[in-house]
Amino acid sequence: MAAKNLLEIENLHTWFELKKYGFVTVGNVRAVDNVSFTIEKGEAISLVGESGCGKSSLAKTILGLYNPREGHINFAGTVLDSSDEEQMDWYRAKVGYVQQDPYGALPPFMTLKKILEEPMKINGIKDSEERIQRIKETMEELKLTPVDDFLSKFPHMLSGGQQQRTVIARALVLDPDLLIADEPVSMLDASVRIEILELLQKIQHERDLSVMYITHDLSTVRYFSKRIMVMYGGKIVERSPVGDLLDNPAHPYSIALLHAISEPDAENVDTYKEVPSGEPPSLLNPPEGCRFHPRCKYKIDGLCDEEIPPDFGCGMEGHQVACWLYRQEGEGIPDDS
Ligand code: SF4
Repeated sequence: MAAKNLLEIENLHTWFELKKYGFVTVGNVRAVDNVSFTIEKGEAISLVGESGCGKSSLAKTILGLYNPREGHINFAGTVLDSSDEEQMDWYRAKVGYVQQDPYGALPPFMTLKKILEEPMKINGIKDSEERIQRIKETMEELKLTPVDDFLSKFPHMLSGGQQQRTVIARALVLDPDLLIADEPVSMLDASVRIEILELLQKIQHERDLSVMYITHDLSTVRYFSKRIMVMYGGKIVERSPVGDLLDNPAHPYSIALLHAISEPDAENVDTYKEVPSGEPPSLLNPPEGCRFHPRCKYKIDGLCDEEIPPDFGCGMEGHQVACWLYRQEGEGIPDDS
């Protein structure tokens, strides 16, 4: 493992068996299909893609909630073994998880104090003074203040933004090294989204925290990630420094995602016309070759529909795209498109 990397994901496959009558296997849903990437210590990366592309399955596999069929997760120099309960307890305390739906993620009959105290009790922090000290510090950090007023509140007494800040506080109270935030702002009002993203960015810098930010909304990734990965049909199809991908997207799917960003300027709505038609692929019977080929106007017959494209370099250092258009250096999307 390279010294700077906190997390190394290697050839990860998360497939779910589909059974008929409860016992006859009729196929596999290939939610995560041969995914590899790294996150350095203190680095924030974004994972983007539309609903059903495998983002959340990848997150839950990294969190240890799903067992991979193949591949490895290497965290801080340790290759995880899901059968080693002691090791998995250590690992889960090092990784915080922020869910999409803050209200659904919080137990309705527990006060904030109990909600934030629970992870510490589970992880053997027996000193109640230490627990309350950590709770107060984390609530201050998340701007759940005045702390004494919030400690006795129940989730339904909070606004959506306060609920999500509580979910983030719960994920941080054990002082993790890695935070996985799965669509953390998608259910919040636009004004609250920015506030939460700016707070996450501040915490990431101050704690030197590694963050994996998962979203379907490319317009929010600039807030704190330096690198971005685009996922489609269970695979990573493009990865790049964030500015290079937003300014010079290479994969036809990434270009379509960028065109789908809401445009407040009515004079620029023409960009919507370039969004490709069709649906995301079935992960039970994914298309042969490139999974985007049924929707791609640049498809090369006999190649794109038969062979899975490997990663090719394009643009800046670290910018890679899994698309046959880039198989020769200097080539890419045709100019007259
Ligand atoms: Fe389109 Fe082929 Fe590139 Fe896939 S590999 S995105 S089908 S050009």
